[in-house]
Amino acid sequence: MIDLRSDTVTKPSPAMLDAMMRAKVGDDVFGEDPTVNELEAMAAEMFGMEAGIFCPSGTMTNQIAIKVHTQPGDEVICDKLAHIYQYEGGGIAFNSGCSVKLLDGDRGRINADQVLEGINANQDFKAATSLVALENTTNRGGGSCYDFSALIAMSEVCAENNLGFHLDGARLFNALVAKKETPKQYGELFDSISICLSKGLGAPVGSVLLGTNKFIKKARRVRKAFGGGMRQAGFLAAAGIYALQNNIERLADDHLHTKQIADALSKKDFVSEVLPVETNIIVADLKGRLNPDSFVEAMRINDVLVMNISAHQIRMVVHLDVSKEMVNKIVATIKSL
Ligand SMILES: *Cc1c(COP(=O)(O)O)cnc(C)c1O
Repeated sequence: MIDLRSDTVTKPSPAMLDAMMRAKVGDDVFGEDPTVNELEAMAAEMFGMEAGIFCPSGTMTNQIAIKVHTQPGDEVICDKLAHIYQYEGGGIAFNSGCSVKLLDGDRGRINADQVLEGINANQDFKAATSLVALENTTNRGGGSCYDFSALIAMSEVCAENNLGFHLDGARLFNALVAKKETPKQYGELFDSISICLSKGLGAPVGSVLLGTNKFIKKARRVRKAFGGGMRQAGFLAAAGIYALQNNIERLADDHLHTKQIADALSKKDFVSEVLPVETNIIVADLKGRLNPDSFVEAMRINDVLVMNISAHQIRMVVHLDVSKEMVNKIVATIKSL
């Protein structure tokens, strides 16, 4: 089976497993796991930020960030498709007691004018807007990337209005590779950044939240309260270190493969639109001969797993366990339908 349902399905390579097996570990709740400490310092250094904290999931790093940036009764601004709102179990309300101002962005991306308009007036009867959270690349927006100038404009709105500025960077490395940007540019702009090691970078588990020393100190208390304090987590952190050292530049291959698959798809009569492909995600609208259910089934009997994400849309995500040969097979399968 070739699995294109998500880039979370990757399994650790032999070299990554080897790095995990050799990890030096200790009790991370006591701050004594040398490999976790190394991963946190390495990620912080990469982004030019003061500190980092290793967590079991990207949901937890996002939710911790929201908790630290807000007080109950505050309001968070994000796009209507944002992962923090759509796919984190109602966590913004559950964990932080905040309401959400959803903005109608362009494939998951919002802009400075929308943010400015979304900030509540400073009146007793309004929820206090305290945080703007962005996603780059966007997940439900089909892997689209922000233009850096738009990020700068929003950071200025946040600074002028005393709002926290958080980035859900689950796939930030895909954006960095696609747009030829650097982690340090992002570290300078955002108050907090969450990166996932378990998506395109191919680690089995884990995300890192980055911020100032003061912010990460608070985040450590929240992680404990959320039940995310792990013990000999260095075995997992070692996979993350391996991923950061070896699996970033190769994301360009995934992006090339994604375009090749999207090209084949766009030529089919049952495809009405393929959203612009910017990174490793394809979202396509189907019509006529094959609907999402029948397309998923037709691919499955040819040993390719894809996902149906709405009554008219399918999604495919390319990752490091999809080889060039597999891409040829996927393209041939699509041509045969
Ligand atoms: C996958 C993902 C996350 C985190 O997901 P976990 O499964 O909790 O690690 C956060 N944001 C986006 C945009 C994602 O795609």
